[in-house]
This record gives sequence, C-alpha cells and structure tokens, in this order.
Amino acid sequence: MIKINENYLKLQASYLFSDIAKRVAAFQKANPGKDVIKLGIGDVTRPLPAACIKAFHKAVDEMAETATFRGYGPEQGYDFLREKIARHDFQERGADIAADEIFVSDGAKCDNGNIQEVFATDITVAIPDPVYPVYLDTNVMAGRTGSFADGRYAGVVYMDCTRETGFIPSLPGQHVDLIYLCFPNNPTGGTITKLQLKQWVDYARENKAIILFDAAYEVFIRDASLPHSIFEIEGAREVAIEFRSFSKMAGFTGTRCAYTVVPKSCRAYTTAGEPRPVHALWHRRHATKFNGVSYPVQRAAEAVYSTEGLAQCRELSDYYLRNAALIRAELSALGYECIGGENSPYVWVNGRMDSWKFFDRLLEKANVVCTPGEGFGRCGAGYIRISAFNHYEKVQAAMARIRKTLKG
Ligand code: PLP
Repeated sequence: MIKINENYLKLQASYLFSDIAKRVAAFQKANPGKDVIKLGIGDVTRPLPAACIKAFHKAVDEMAETATFRGYGPEQGYDFLREKIARHDFQERGADIAADEIFVSDGAKCDNGNIQEVFATDITVAIPDPVYPVYLDTNVMAGRTGSFADGRYAGVVYMDCTRETGFIPSLPGQHVDLIYLCFPNNPTGGTITKLQLKQWVDYARENKAIILFDAAYEVFIRDASLPHSIFEIEGAREVAIEFRSFSKMAGFTGTRCAYTVVPKSCRAYTTAGEPRPVHALWHRRHATKFNGVSYPVQRAAEAVYSTEGLAQCRELSDYYLRNAALIRAELSALGYECIGGENSPYVWVNGRMDSWKFFDRLLEKANVVCTPGEGFGRCGAGYIRISAFNHYEKVQAAMARIRKTLKG
C-alpha cells in the first residue's frame, strides 16, 4: 500500500493567497461591474528593465546558432553571473563572499523551502510570527512540528514580532538550532540594524546554530546605516546562509532568477558533534535535484549589474517606494499606526480590529484588496499588509477610496 507523507495533513487548509483569491473571486462574481484594485499579493507590475530585455534577446538569439548554442549549464549558475553578484552585492559592501559560494536558482521561495533538507529532522527551529508562510510550511512538511492548535504548530519556537518588540524578534530564551530572519521584513516592512543583527550572529555562534537570512527585499533599503547583507556582520560567515532574489530587485517574478549564498566556512554538525561544511551538502543537493537556470535568464540577470541595469533597477525600486510612501502617509493621516513603507514595499497597518473583518471592509466598501495580517501568524491579528506593488495611479485611486471608506 502506497502511503502518503502524513505531515502534509498537518498543514492548514490552504495557502493564504488562495484564500484571498477565493474571497476576491466571490466578490467579483457578485459585483461584476466593480473595479477591484489589488494591493494584496507582492507581485510586481512594471516590466523588466530595458538592459535585461536587451541581454535576454541577445542570449535567445545565441541559442539559435550552432556556434553559440548552450545545453545544460553548470547547476550552480554560470561564472559570468556569480562573479558579478559576488563583486557587486557583497565585496563592494565589504562582505567577504566569493563567486563559488553563490548558488544561482529559479527562486528564493524554492531555496528557502529546500534548504531545510540538509538539516536533521530533530532540530529545533525558531520562526518569526508574523512570517512569510514558506518557512513554516516547509518545516511542517518535513516533519519538524507537531500538529496545529490555537494558531500554532507544536514543537516550533515562535518569535513574536509585535509593537512591543519593535517588530524584530527577541533572542529566544531557550536553545534553538535553525533561525529564520527576514529583513526588510515581509509582511511587516520592519528593518534590522547592524547592532541588532550582530546579537543574532553572536547567539548563533554561541549555540552552534545557523541563521537563514532572507534578504529578498534588500533593494528597497535606503537608510545607509542598515545592513544589506548578514555577511556585513563580523562572524556571520560561520553561521549564516543568505537568500536573494531578482524578483523584486528587477521585476523577475515571472522570469525566475535568484541566488543563495552558503559560505564555505558555514558549519553544521553530525550527531557525534563533528563539524561539516554546509556548502558541500547544498552543492550536492543542488547538483542532484536542480539543473540550472536557463542561459538567457542568467544573461538577463547579469545585465542588472551593468551601468544601465543598475540605474534602471534603482528607478524601479524608487517607483514602488513612492507608492509605499503614499500608502503610509494616507493611512497615517487617517490615524492608523503604520510600520514599514520606508526601506520596504510593504506597509503594516494596525487596523485595530479583526484583520479578516478589516480585509472584508476594504474589499466590499473600497474595492481594494489587502492581506489580512492574521494570515501570516497569530501576531498578525489586528493588522493588515498593504503592498506597494501596483501602478502609482492605481495606488492613488485605492487610497482615495480607502480614505472615503474609513472616514465614513
Ligand atoms: N522571500 C520572501 C520574504 C518573499 O516575500 C518572497 C516573495 O514574495 C520570496 C522570498 C520569493 O522570491 P522568489 O520570487 O525569488 O521565489
């Protein structure tokens, strides 16, 4: 008899965004004439930068000629891309990362989800609340949790990120082995200082733990004092893995390209306590289960680092940050406490009521879709996340409608 992985049965009924999509679809079916503005899911709306498109086209043409055609590429990514990433995203910021410590992939979601495979199932995992659901669900699937009750899985160390903690997790009061951190944060838009991040690195070193640092929203950082990478922090190379993505940086959500940094000095341990390099494990996993990102996509990603590419990506992130600033200013003027929206495309709004009720109110009265904070965890109760990923005119229109609804 073929048996299922019963850990899947512990998962909550559906992914948050499927629930939202169902409610929006039901509303649109009942109100066919209504124009709904979506500020819910974090998907970009503007096209790829011109420099990327040019490089993409050129690489597609190369695939049409025998002399320049490419078949399977290196699983870890082409050197032309890895070298640019290492230099621009790390070395120029004083972070000691080499090209062969970078693994190019088709998404930070997949990497965040897959990385836990190289660790034992009986480790203790610390996860922020509220959280990007992928960290939690992939650990449930792997069997690292008990069942779900009262909004939480047994066996997980939840790190509350609330108003009281400044939306940054506090160091756990117990030993943990694997720590998920995400800054700038999805969903709260919160950021972390170098000093605060250093405390986490020190904790991980003392506890022989590893930090999984998700920096998918790094491109939105404008405050020069904030760290762009955990590898700007002394000692992080031994205890951290970092995830980055071209999705929000260059509009690659549909094109798919990302990368994960696993320093060669990062160690995890055998049951007998012997240190082993995580780089070798992830290298093996990548080579066995992944066959590389397509050549044209890697050429398009490489173009991000050209002079024009960098300027165009900056213009893209500036565009979304202008939306975020507008959302934050409007909601603040209405008397709502807001976090994020600066150094981040997300605004986390204290709605002072049940977050699904607030979601329904905005959908039904303002015809605007947001994301209920509760969907990201128990600590998201009472909050909504408003995403800046849309056209400026749409954001303006959405804010005018929200103003009318919430004032009325
Ligand atoms: N990490 C975080 C925190 C995200 O919010 C997202 C997407 O919304 C991702 C990773 C996914 O990135 P990618 O498009 O590279 O899979």
